[in-house]
Amino acid sequence: MPSGRVHTLINSGAYLLTVAGAAYAAHTDLYTVSVRDAAGFSAAFWAGTLLLSPDLDLAEGQVSSKRAWGPLGFIWVPYGKMFSHRGLSHSWLIGPLTRIGYLALIVWALLYLLRLTVPDLYAALPRSGLPLEWNFWVPILTGYYLSQWLHLIADGIAPDTGFGRLGRKLRANTPFRRKRARRR
Ligand SMILES: [Zn+2]
Repeated sequence: MPSGRVHTLINSGAYLLTVAGAAYAAHTDLYTVSVRDAAGFSAAFWAGTLLLSPDLDLAEGQVSSKRAWGPLGFIWVPYGKMFSHRGLSHSWLIGPLTRIGYLALIVWALLYLLRLTVPDLYAALPRSGLPLEWNFWVPILTGYYLSQWLHLIADGIAPDTGFGRLGRKLRANTPFRRKRARRR
């Protein structure tokens, strides 16, 4: 299993290739990426590489993506306890969503607590809704998922149903597989 540093190195290389590709596309008038899209893609890619790595499933111990959170690293300890290493956390579709969902849950809980304890401060928080147009989210999702998939490829995990170990277990028990296994 590659270390956190190796994963960062691989992702950095892929990022440089993406930037080179975008520069080439702009240079040849093929397509010019807007500043907003480039910023969204880059922020999500680096957040996914450094802060939201699938290896947070090891956060009950020490792991570089937990250290990257500094004093806030402890918030990932329950995540590490909840998810077995290279299980659901390392699946292609659901895995990246588990970390976003976990983080969203913590933010929601903190806001809820704030509302209960200091309602005045809660009321003073800025309330700009998130943009709903899909073209705002596409570069962000692309950057995030690309960072996660590069990690899974480096780990040698093939694309699956999105459910990781559970998916593999289910597929291993399909009648088709069992028949083939018997024939062998
Ligand atoms: Zn991993």
